[in-house]
Amino acid sequence: MKLNCPCGNQVSDTTDLLSYKAHLVADQDLDDLVNAAKSVGGGLRDAVARYRRHVYQCSACKRLLLLFDDEVHAFSADDPAQANQVLRSVEGEQWKRNLRARWRNGRGEVWWGFGVEDQGFETDFATWDAVETRYFEVFRRLKKGGLLRESVLDRESTTVHIWPAR
Ligand SMILES: [Zn+2]
Repeated sequence: MKLNCPCGNQVSDTTDLLSYKAHLVADQDLDDLVNAAKSVGGGLRDAVARYRRHVYQCSACKRLLLLFDDEVHAFSADDPAQANQVLRSVEGEQWKRNLRARWRNGRGEVWWGFGVEDQGFETDFATWDAVETRYFEVFRRLKKGGLLRESVLDRESTTVHIWPAR
């Protein structure tokens, strides 16, 4: 899904763990959400899905884009320079990030983070060994720093390494 910001920029929502997207719950709904999450057969994710609205921040102009009844409502910041990344994790740079790497059909990719300073998307790999070496470099560094949520290394269609172990 892509949203059109009044500034002309497009805001993309095609993956998880976005640093510029948040789930907004009305104060009138908060107790109902908590009760729904406790109810039999329900779960927190289902309860949040029922009561949330999505809000995004445009990376270009820093407007907040609130989706309400399938329409985009834009709110601009008084000081865009000071309003950067207002929807990202409360953990800031300490947010635990995912690490993914794969080698497939002669091409390698290693990526982690997104929306934090310590992030990467690397594709310049000539061999599987180079992908594996880089993956474990980043893996050890993020894990040591307490910055890793989960990590997966794939070679063709086989998962070679996964953390935490499942
Ligand atoms: Zn914008």
